[in-house]
Amino acid sequence: MKIIKNISVRHKLMLISMAITMASLLLASVAFITSDRLYAQKTVVDGLNTMTDMIAANSSAAILFGDADAALETLGFLKSQGNIQAGALYLKDGDVFATYRRNGFNGELPAPGSNKQDVKFSDKYTEVFRPIVYKNDPIGIVYLRSDMSAVHDRLSWFLWIVVITLVTSLVFAFALSTQLQRIITDPLLRLSAIARRISTEKNFDLRVSGHGRDELGNLIGDFNTMLNEIQTRDRQLKEHQAELEERVAIRTQELEIANIELASSKEQAEAVAKRMEYHAHHDALTGLPNRILLNDRIHKGLAHARRQQSMLALLFLDLDRFKIINDSLGHAVGDQLLRVISRRLKSCLREGDTIARLGGDEFMVLLPDIKSASDAGKIGNKIIKSLTDSISCNGHELHITTSVGISVYPFDGADADTLVKHADISMYRAKDIGRNRMVYYTAEMNAGSRKKLALETSLRSALGKKQLHLVYQPKIDITRNQIIGVEALLRWKHPAMGYVSPLEFIPIAEESGLIIPIGEWVLNTAFRQLREWHDAGFDELTMAVNLSSAQLSRPGFEDIMEHALSNSGISADKAELEITENVAMRNIDSAIMTLQKFKDKGMSIAMDDFGTGYSSLGYLRKLPIDTVKIDRSFVSELPDSKDDALIAQTIIAMAHSMNLGLVVEGVENVRQLNFFKKQGCHIVQGFLFSKPLLADELLEMLRTHDTRAIINLVRK
Ligand code: C2E
Ligand code: MG
Ligand code: MG
Repeated sequence: MKIIKNISVRHKLMLISMAITMASLLLASVAFITSDRLYAQKTVVDGLNTMTDMIAANSSAAILFGDADAALETLGFLKSQGNIQAGALYLKDGDVFATYRRNGFNGELPAPGSNKQDVKFSDKYTEVFRPIVYKNDPIGIVYLRSDMSAVHDRLSWFLWIVVITLVTSLVFAFALSTQLQRIITDPLLRLSAIARRISTEKNFDLRVSGHGRDELGNLIGDFNTMLNEIQTRDRQLKEHQAELEERVAIRTQELEIANIELASSKEQAEAVAKRMEYHAHHDALTGLPNRILLNDRIHKGLAHARRQQSMLALLFLDLDRFKIINDSLGHAVGDQLLRVISRRLKSCLREGDTIARLGGDEFMVLLPDIKSASDAGKIGNKIIKSLTDSISCNGHELHITTSVGISVYPFDGADADTLVKHADISMYRAKDIGRNRMVYYTAEMNAGSRKKLALETSLRSALGKKQLHLVYQPKIDITRNQIIGVEALLRWKHPAMGYVSPLEFIPIAEESGLIIPIGEWVLNTAFRQLREWHDAGFDELTMAVNLSSAQLSRPGFEDIMEHALSNSGISADKAELEITENVAMRNIDSAIMTLQKFKDKGMSIAMDDFGTGYSSLGYLRKLPIDTVKIDRSFVSELPDSKDDALIAQTIIAMAHSMNLGLVVEGVENVRQLNFFKKQGCHIVQGFLFSKPLLADELLEMLRTHDTRAIINLVRK
């Protein structure tokens, strides 16, 4: 079966047609031979029956009369029948009456079985028995035996014919099928040949030719239709491919152009990047390295110093009173000044040292390789000296100094942050002790700043924990013998440290921004308190509140003030705001604007601690102030100190000439009081009259007119 599967369709078809031919021929031959044999057998039997009938009729008389000769004569007729081998007549009891044997036949004659008609077949002969009847009585039996060889001969003849026919048919079928199978195989072969060519050549233009209306024709037709479809798709695919390739080519071209443009703009970009890199690491105003570049150099310098076990120093510089120059003469002058200073500072340094501007008026010098700590001091002094010559800017001859703090690796810190912090602390120390000087860092300074930090932490919760309260120091008009107002002063009672001086915690509050909520609380509390005293009948009393610069420059501060006033219900002319010179100078333009608004509302403005700051008549004129408070530092040595007396007199004269009110603070004794009385000052504040008091104590004082005793002092 496997072999048949693998042979070609052509041979399969040939085999099928030959097999069918053979099978049909064989069937036909078998049918024919079988029917012919049966017919021949029947013919023989019919012949034998006719003959027995005839013999029976002709021999009945001979039997009845026992005439054997007549019987032999009747049987003699059998000689003319070539196929009869033997014949016999039996009597009723089975005895042989007469027999006939053809020459050459020596076979035994059978005994008659019965009187019945009987036919027996064998391969070689056929036997017939027939009863002889006379008047319905059986009187004997006729027996005939016919030779069947003629039938066999005929059969073998037919077989031969069948074999020859089969062989001829086979040859004929083979010849015919080889031709006829082409009707089927030719289109199939064409189909497969075209399919194979298409698959190898990828040529979809090929088609299978000639097709009829039969199934094969339909198959070829469908195949060609399929090819048409494939060809259309192939064409579309090629078109798409071409379109795609075109697009890729255009894109490639665009990319090449873009690449060229990029290459040319790369140079520009590099130049821009360089500029950006420069700006990222340098101060725009002075061209000096900025904090970022400095930090980088400090880290590198430290790494080097660690490896070489050498020393490194940081000098923190802050220009003294630069802000005032900047605010008063304008930013253009300030900027010019900074540029000149930068050049001077730079000239003090060696190659390899770095001077950076950190912002505003702060500079930092990095000395990456020094032999001893005193080398840093030498550079520090050189820097301070370099600024002694005045600088002319826009027609102004300006004198500027700087305070310098120094920290040295490895003594004052092992890392950049610590060294910077310590240089910063020592710079503040330089400022504290008089400015225009240089201070080396010491461990004690750090202890101070740690305390500051601890205070700041506690101060954050002081308001919430109700550790803050106000005390009120009266201001007395010595000519009228009357308390005309009070100044609200803040007190902080720390649970562990006790009372902390406002001189200590107010700067911390200012630096940390805590002064904003604290200041708002002071305003509200002081004004509410004043309202209570007004309600108690002392309705002419004024309330002075100290303001910090952070409050003044805070957007929305006017609303806070408005709120405090309206909440308390006091009228604005009973409120006085005390600012120090430094507060006013910090941002003079906006300070003027804000203060003017308060003044317009009816509040009065006092310049506190006058003489300790940047005491300039020019500024005083610009600021919308009503009163000047002479600082107690000029008061304490009076009247003995001639210098202080002169200063006090000058301030008083100036205030008078400008029509400003005057308050003398810190009056502790009668001599001081008399001094100012002689100068025409009549509003005083000081321990001589009263220390700052709690609200109840002050009310008590107001009620008892306790100041009379003091007035008596004045008279003395
Ligand atoms: P200030 O505004 O000049 O207040 C006057 C200071 O002088 C008060 O010190 C007061 O107790 C003190 N004083 C008054 N009379 C005498 C005297 O006869 N002899 C001496 N030696 N001192 C006298 P205090 O209360 O320690 O306040 C110090 C500074 O703290 C104030 O100076 C003020 O600038 C600031 N301050 C106080 N309370 C506040 C506040 O609520 N807000 C703001 N921003 N600053 C405040
Ligand atoms: Mg004050
Ligand atoms: Mg004061």
